[in-house]
Amino acid sequence: MRTIVEPFRIKMTEPIRMISREDRQAALEAAHYNVFLLDAADCHIDLLTDSGTGAMSQQQWAALLLGDESYAGSASFKRFESVVKDITGMNYVLPTHQGRAAEGILAATRVSKGDIIPNNTHFDTTRANLQFVGGKPLDFPSGCAQDLTSNEPFKGNMDLQALKNCITEYGADKIPFCMITITNNAGGGQPVSMANIKAVKALLDEVDIPLVLDACRFSENSFFIKKREPGYEDKSLLAIAQETFSYADVVLMSCKKDGLANIGGFIACNNATWEVDFRNSLIMREGFPTYGGLAGRDLEAIAIGLKEVLDDDYQTYRHGVISYIAKHFEEIGVPIVQPVGGHAVFIDAKASLPHIPALAYPGISLVNALYVEGGIRAVEMGSVMFGQWDAAGHETPASLELVRLAIPRRVYTQSHFDYLIEVMEKVWQKRDALTGYQLDYQPQYLRHFSGQFQPIGE
Ligand SMILES: *Cc1c(COP(=O)(O)O)cnc(C)c1O
Repeated sequence: MRTIVEPFRIKMTEPIRMISREDRQAALEAAHYNVFLLDAADCHIDLLTDSGTGAMSQQQWAALLLGDESYAGSASFKRFESVVKDITGMNYVLPTHQGRAAEGILAATRVSKGDIIPNNTHFDTTRANLQFVGGKPLDFPSGCAQDLTSNEPFKGNMDLQALKNCITEYGADKIPFCMITITNNAGGGQPVSMANIKAVKALLDEVDIPLVLDACRFSENSFFIKKREPGYEDKSLLAIAQETFSYADVVLMSCKKDGLANIGGFIACNNATWEVDFRNSLIMREGFPTYGGLAGRDLEAIAIGLKEVLDDDYQTYRHGVISYIAKHFEEIGVPIVQPVGGHAVFIDAKASLPHIPALAYPGISLVNALYVEGGIRAVEMGSVMFGQWDAAGHETPASLELVRLAIPRRVYTQSHFDYLIEVMEKVWQKRDALTGYQLDYQPQYLRHFSGQFQPIGE
């Protein structure tokens, strides 16, 4: 079937409006050509992130009314805990207000200055939390991850040999734990195979290093395993997720992704000693262990979201949407990262706009063109976000210049995506006329959020 049939119908609507092209141009100028500084109301279709931007189901909205807001021992916590235990198999579950709080607790309790923490690719908040306590996060993505056109099914895998070398070089004593991020967000939402997770765990077991799963998109990863890994085609997403978690010692989760909730997270583990450390750190930072920085009603919504995300129809629809956009972009000729990941479509801005040098930010040029052309908000993931620069003004570009279109969960319909494809086609026709940008102002950290740009030659 060519048509994507959303496995839901709409009961409550949220208006979106399209402002005129002139108004979009003016809004972008007022935002210093940085889409992070736009008002959301001025964005017709907002694909900035898939984090916390999903729509809740009627079951989730109804469950909000059941929220038990007791400070200690709330019934909502019991329901939340029981779902997380069922999916992850972990004995101890602690809610946090979002994923990075769980990272902060892990870093504060298990990492000492000079420790090495390997991962397939650390997400930026994970990296920052580890560095903050003096840890040294290292990335070991599989070799094919940098090749944007390679069609390998599991480009999110960890490079086993590189991990082995790392353990030999630093020694297991220097490595408090190893991480795997599913799906590999910073690597384009690429999945990790069960075979890879198993092999990493076996290697770590030989030297007694625990495995921590950063599991924000565990169900999207399970869906890829079901579709691409032999032996899993007839298994349920829940069974695949349970097997995945059976290799983990600790699970970190941002429920703003595969929790299908607007806020929330958790840290879960099997080790009673670690749990005590986590709990004490949680009480100091987040709150009492039965609410952990969330309202009781949030725990209710997450408990339901974690089950809904494992529904086959939902995942089929979600991956169908992403493949649909990708297929049409390819027909237009837009170079995208292959194969498409689980939560976004990534455009290769360097290949799209070869006349704009990396340090004139081709990604920003493409992002801004999508906004002016059709009110679509995307995000640059290139030299602005990942490049290196110093106070003297010396700048090194990132290795890739990508533009990400992240798809919020259960929010937009096929006609929204058809519109996106039309806008992309118009931008593509005008690509030779697009110009680069210069940075007029940049803060010391995270310049992509608040940097101010100016078009070159205007
Ligand atoms: C979003 C995300 C996090 C952090 O979660 P927040 O809820 O945004 O704090 C950590 N790791 C990965 C892979 C993520 O995608």
